[in-house]
Amino acid sequence: MGWNEIKKARQRLSREQGTIIKDWGGRLPIALIYPNSYYVGMSNLGIHTIYSLLNSYNGIVCERAFWERENRAQQIPPLCLESQRPLSDFAVLAFSITYELDYFNVVSFLNASGIPLYAADRDERHPLVIAGGPCIIANPLPLSPFFDCLCIGEAEPMLPIILPVLSEGINGKRSDLLKALASLPGVYVPLAHSGAPVVRQWAANLDDLPVASTILTPDTELGNLYLIEVERGCNWGCRFCLVSNSFRPMRFRSLDKLISQAKLGLKYRKRLGLIGPAVSDHPQIEDLLIKLRQMGAGLSTSSLRVKPLSRIVLRELTEGGAQTITLAPEAGSQRLRQIIKKGISEDDILESVGKVAEYNLKQLKLYFMLGLPSETDEDVEEIINLALHCKSILDRRQSGTRITLNISPFVPKAGTPFQWLPVTPPPILNRRLSLLKKSLPPKGIELKWESPAWSQVQGVLARGDTKVAEVLVNIEEVSLSGWRQAVAKCHLDIDFYAHQRWDFAQKLPWAILDSGTKLAHLEVELERALH
Ligand code: SF4
Repeated sequence: MGWNEIKKARQRLSREQGTIIKDWGGRLPIALIYPNSYYVGMSNLGIHTIYSLLNSYNGIVCERAFWERENRAQQIPPLCLESQRPLSDFAVLAFSITYELDYFNVVSFLNASGIPLYAADRDERHPLVIAGGPCIIANPLPLSPFFDCLCIGEAEPMLPIILPVLSEGINGKRSDLLKALASLPGVYVPLAHSGAPVVRQWAANLDDLPVASTILTPDTELGNLYLIEVERGCNWGCRFCLVSNSFRPMRFRSLDKLISQAKLGLKYRKRLGLIGPAVSDHPQIEDLLIKLRQMGAGLSTSSLRVKPLSRIVLRELTEGGAQTITLAPEAGSQRLRQIIKKGISEDDILESVGKVAEYNLKQLKLYFMLGLPSETDEDVEEIINLALHCKSILDRRQSGTRITLNISPFVPKAGTPFQWLPVTPPPILNRRLSLLKKSLPPKGIELKWESPAWSQVQGVLARGDTKVAEVLVNIEEVSLSGWRQAVAKCHLDIDFYAHQRWDFAQKLPWAILDSGTKLAHLEVELERALH
């Protein structure tokens, strides 16, 4: 075991507030794993929530593990932060998976830990390996051969049901434990699945459990903020959106709870980060921001809905020191915004940007997607025109405001009306991206984009089945050429997963799940979008 790794873990811990260190004696040890770096993982509220939830049980000790790029490259066996023990010492490994491209890290993490990769090769001598998170809730199939059980739903309602079964069965026969887990709501056990749909579980009342920063550290992306989850799910029903479709229904935390969490947070940080898919949708958002400002809080939020966007919200955010406002028009043309059901017009966008300009905010970020269904070069021209119009509105008001466009290729997500649609081939996306690159940076608009080539990979992972798992196992090096070699070796039909429009008769890999939304509804939504 590397002394260097132990030293690094201790250094990290020394910079944290809120770490929970428990004695292992008589407790069930669970490793909570985020398959990416500490810097990324510690800004993920899911990790904070599950860590504090698991450690709230006296009979459980939960520690965290991350997967740093340099350790990955050298396959250095990972350690848990709190005790610096190897992963093989734990009874349970619990992965939280939020991003498809982290699937590669799941495989390399298990390999480096010396734990058999396939669930079928593990027995009572090995930890039980489980997973949850947005990617698993949408489509657990590509990773399913590696996990003993997959949690289809939110942690709050599921952990209280799973943990007693785990505690009771972990020292017994593995097959008995798997059978017991498979009988629980929302739990998918690939090796003991009955064939009945696995019903997604969700928390009825967000007030039952605060979701906020548990551990404070400067060594993470949002390290200067105390994060508070304001809401979950989203009612707007954009047709590409996983949040809207797999995290239904929309739920809000009450004003009282949010204020009491804020009081706690302000003991640790001067600024609060309000997190949610559409924070400005909270029915008491204005009261909340006014009260937080009266408490002296600095404020920051995740992306705001273009409409409604009230002046009071913008005023309080500006006075609370927010430097950046993020809006997501997603498409430049009204035609495409209607197809994706964004529910906003060009006038709405320009009006909101006008309001942003009134409050002298320093930076406006706009999110757009490329490769949306039926997109043409004219639609991309409309992104350019819209961005330039937004810039002229800001420039009229004050100089020195930065405007940044974040461009993501459209990737179809399981469980959404667009799940049957293909990813646009990378050469077309690259050509359209070059239109943006040619037009916007010379006019003073910053452009950031995600790689079209990797979006193709993401598309395969998002709509994949167990055949994709074989490719993940055969990757020698995580790079596009490593991916292509593994795909060729496993004879995976990339075209089918990424670039073909599936018809409604096609059996979906994730048909084993019952997300709560009827397939017929998704079909109607897709028909409405495209006709
Ligand atoms: S508003 Fe945002 S979070 Fe809500 S459905 Fe649309 S894209 Fe998803």
